[in-house]
Amino acid sequence: MTVPTAAEAVARPAAVRDLCTDCGISRSSDPGRCGRACQFIKPDYPRLEARVHGRARDALNADEVFFGTHQQIHRAALVDPKPGAQWTGITTRIAERLLETGAVDAVLTMTADPQDRWRPVPVLVTRAADLAACRGMRMGYAPLLALLEPARAAGHRRLAVIGIPCQVYALRALEAELGFEKLYVIGTPCSDNTTTENFHRFLALLSAQPDSIRYLEFRADYHVELRFDDGRRQTIPFLQLPISKLPRDFFPLTCRTCVDYTNVLADITVGYMGGEGEQWLLVRNARGAELLGLLGDEVRLTAPGSHGKRAGPVKGFLANTERAAGGLPLRRMPDWLKPIVGWLMPRIGPRGLEFARARVEMKAVETVVHLRREQPRRMKSMIPEHLWRLVEAYGLCPRKGEVADRTRPNEPKAR
Ligand SMILES: Cc1cc2nc3c(=O)[nH]c(=O)nc-3n(C[C@H](O)[C@H](O)[C@H](O)COP(=O)(O)OP(=O)(O)OC[C@H]3O[C@@H](n4cnc5c(N)ncnc54)[C@H](O)[C@@H]3O)c2cc1C
Ligand code: SF4
Ligand code: SF4
Repeated sequence: MTVPTAAEAVARPAAVRDLCTDCGISRSSDPGRCGRACQFIKPDYPRLEARVHGRARDALNADEVFFGTHQQIHRAALVDPKPGAQWTGITTRIAERLLETGAVDAVLTMTADPQDRWRPVPVLVTRAADLAACRGMRMGYAPLLALLEPARAAGHRRLAVIGIPCQVYALRALEAELGFEKLYVIGTPCSDNTTTENFHRFLALLSAQPDSIRYLEFRADYHVELRFDDGRRQTIPFLQLPISKLPRDFFPLTCRTCVDYTNVLADITVGYMGGEGEQWLLVRNARGAELLGLLGDEVRLTAPGSHGKRAGPVKGFLANTERAAGGLPLRRMPDWLKPIVGWLMPRIGPRGLEFARARVEMKAVETVVHLRREQPRRMKSMIPEHLWRLVEAYGLCPRKGEVADRTRPNEPKAR
């Protein structure tokens, strides 16, 4: 077996599969491992949850059905937010602490392409000071896991990986055979990713100077926030976004049918969805608690709130997704009403944990609707049992042939 160097691994051709986010395994010395590592082929979440966390998610604990196995859940912020971070920088600060304390030899994460700040590029970092350049969100796919073999070949035995859910699934599926002495996994949630090229098209619709946009976030208060190079900030209500001008296939099928929003196999998930304007942490196991402990009093933790009711918005989303028939779910609403609803949503819509539950349910609904329409034969192997529990309240039940034998099919009424 020849181990590629980092440059060789990234330069290898990616897998040619219709459902693939180029996590990097197909560029490794044994691309055949995709068959047992891929989130889009035949994932086995209960088995991996049990192996990684010591137990699968508790089916009787509602929040675990939504967010996966966890021991602690917090609203959080770094007391001293870091420049360039997507939120306050908890993710990269944990990784810095791992390097500063000597707990790991290297951190595998993404940095920005020097020619395009929005394009992710995988990188192995061995000095804490170099992680500042990795802060912030980029849009697109890059073969993070292609650098696992070069990391081993460079002599790194204790590794931290920062990854999005489809990368973390493959990492965990192969963890035992990778041979690292210690592996820390810091995950972020992920949804609605697309190619970097598509993302540039979106930026061009948002501003006359798209190249000067240095930051974008879909905030939990139903606004997109933009920051520009000259220091300007702009917020746009979701309802005013130019979604109708995007091509129907703006989001690839992978990201419309991905079954893991909250990165359930990470040791710690660092996001913002349940944070009501701050960050949101899910500590999943003892190693995740160790990672949070590294921040000491650099981090402020509070109890997350939960307000509003998600059922109405999720039902509306399901109706729009079905009506869009594979395209983007546009809201049917006269233009004059949009500012009023846009004003009301952050005030009466689901907030805090209820917002996070709503987003997880919407993503689950999308998975069922899009797979049923475009790849029905994949449903049986791709959709985990817990996902059906999330969508059943909205009248989506598995039809014949859509579940493996372990769950009972329940033919829904014709709609
Ligand atoms: C495409 C995408 C969609 C997301 N959607 C959501 C969401 O819906 N809800 C939510 O709560 N959180 C989401 N996140 C995570 C969120 O944007 C923040 O990254 C997270 O809250 C951590 O903030 P931070 O300040 O701690 O991160 P920082 O300290 O700024 O660190 C961010 C880390 O993310 C890595 N990263 C950046 N872009 C990518 C990429 N394209 N692929 C892989 N790794 C990357 C960076 O290398 C860095 O290590 C998404 C992230 C991505 C990449
Ligand atoms: S394991 Fe990774 S590289 Fe292989 S098919 Fe899946 S997403 Fe693509
Ligand atoms: S939405 Fe899912 S499939 Fe798409 S990049 Fe994010 S984790 Fe991967």
